[in-house]
Amino acid sequence: MSETRLAVNDVSVEFTGLRALDHVSLSVAAGEVVGLIGPNGSGKTTLINAITGQVKLATGTIAAGDTTLSGLSPREIALAGVSRSFQIVRIFNSMTVMENVEAAALAKGASRTVSAERAKGLLAELGLTAKADELGESLSYGDKRRVEIARALAAEPRFLLLDEPAAGMNDAETETLLHTLAELPEKRGLGLLIIDHDMGLIMRLCHRLHVLASGRTIAEGDAAHVRSHPAVIEAYLGK
Ligand code: ADP
Repeated sequence: MSETRLAVNDVSVEFTGLRALDHVSLSVAAGEVVGLIGPNGSGKTTLINAITGQVKLATGTIAAGDTTLSGLSPREIALAGVSRSFQIVRIFNSMTVMENVEAAALAKGASRTVSAERAKGLLAELGLTAKADELGESLSYGDKRRVEIARALAAEPRFLLLDEPAAGMNDAETETLLHTLAELPEKRGLGLLIIDHDMGLIMRLCHRLHVLASGRTIAEGDAAHVRSHPAVIEAYLGK
């Protein structure tokens, strides 16, 4: 299990007239947190969409451990152990917090009893127990984001891909989220890939960073290496 890697190998994605990803390779090990950063339009969300089967690959392959993901449907990829959150929160407004998380476990094929137990545990883990009976629509933005993460975890993934989990959160909510996320890899043997514009969050949370610009990898490594990399400074300052 500790050897399991999510491996993106030489992946390109093309939209009409545009190469959004250009031969990108990246890997995330179980228990590791990797930050995916880069200027707007650099291909970060497209890379997550490629991993979860939402866009087709023009080149390359993607695998989780021994399972080849490229060519599978989003549902098959989720069943193979790769879950995600979206930039725009997707939860059920007319269901309670508990029902939202239970529904995600049921969708993965867990029984009612197991789903209820799992959901209860996840609400506790994400600090949502007091909100269990509140409707999705009545939640604050930060709580909605937490419910979405709980829903993704309810599938018991091996890899979790988070697209701007702290977007729209205030400082206190971001801090709580940071602590919750920081515990996940060790506790669950989970590999995390995170996109966020909050560099404070990214630098504190991630073991490694992967930097994209115009669909290409321009740097990768630890925070100190990436921060001082000339190509990164140039991409961010837009020279
Ligand atoms: P980022 O997440 O780094 O901001 P994206 O992955 O969203 O970047 O976008 C990369 C490039 O691909 C952008 O130029 C964007 O406009 C384009 N793009 C993304 N999705 C689509 C799509 N479905 N159709 C056409 N172009 C797209």
